[in-house]
Amino acid sequence: MALPRFRDGCFLYVSDRGLAHLLLTRRGFAAITLGHVIVAAREPDDAIWRHELRHVRQYDRLGLAFLPVYLRLQAKHGYTRNPLEREAAGAISLFPDE
Ligand SMILES: [Zn+2]
Repeated sequence: MALPRFRDGCFLYVSDRGLAHLLLTRRGFAAITLGHVIVAAREPDDAIWRHELRHVRQYDRLGLAFLPVYLRLQAKHGYTRNPLEREAAGAISLFPDE
């Protein structure tokens, strides 16, 4: 895996080959965010970067609950209707004071 860069308070790994790239692209994802670490299958464009930064803010709000909450919402609503994905897409606001 490539060395990370530090951008907007996050570590960004661009993994354009290898296992991480294969896992991301096989499932159709451009990037995945774990706390303040973002792993991208290619250099993220502005829209993808904004999306991932919204997930970072969700992690900041939910802490270690993020992953179980995310997976539960995913099981219930699917990917496109997952409220955390809808917020990351800018469609809704889950944390209105921001
Ligand atoms: Zn997302």
